[in-house]
Amino acid sequence: MDCIFCKIVEGTIPSKKVFENEQVVAFHDIQPAAPVHILIIPKKHMASMNDVQEGDWALLGEVQRAAQTIAREQGVAESGYRLVNNCGKDAGQVVFHLHYHLLGGENLGPLLA
Ligand code: 5GP
Ligand code: ZN
Repeated sequence: MDCIFCKIVEGTIPSKKVFENEQVVAFHDIQPAAPVHILIIPKKHMASMNDVQEGDWALLGEVQRAAQTIAREQGVAESGYRLVNNCGKDAGQVVFHLHYHLLGGENLGPLLA
């Protein structure tokens, strides 16, 4: 399958990983939009939030569990951070492998500026 993030999971495209377990992997965004900008993904391919199947909700819970851990490890748990999922065209989703952006390390301002 021609999916950049599946290739990152497989290791055929390099990435700066900050977290990995059986179900989830997280790595630095190649074009950071904040001092801390980590992408957190399920290893299982699903294109977007629209494609999450009934059996996948626990897996998305694991993605959020990873986000909590990563925020602590990146030192932004106390100062605060934003978890963002872009779904589809109007949200500007570019990579169609479900992912959350973890953004922090500065005052991010209002969500909708
Ligand atoms: P989206 O708009 O789909 O939510 O965001 C996709 C994100 O993936 C963007 O922030 C972009 O910089 C990041 N990205 C795209 N290709 C790569 C890549 O090959 N490696 C890494 N680490 N990040 C990528
Ligand atoms: Zn994929």
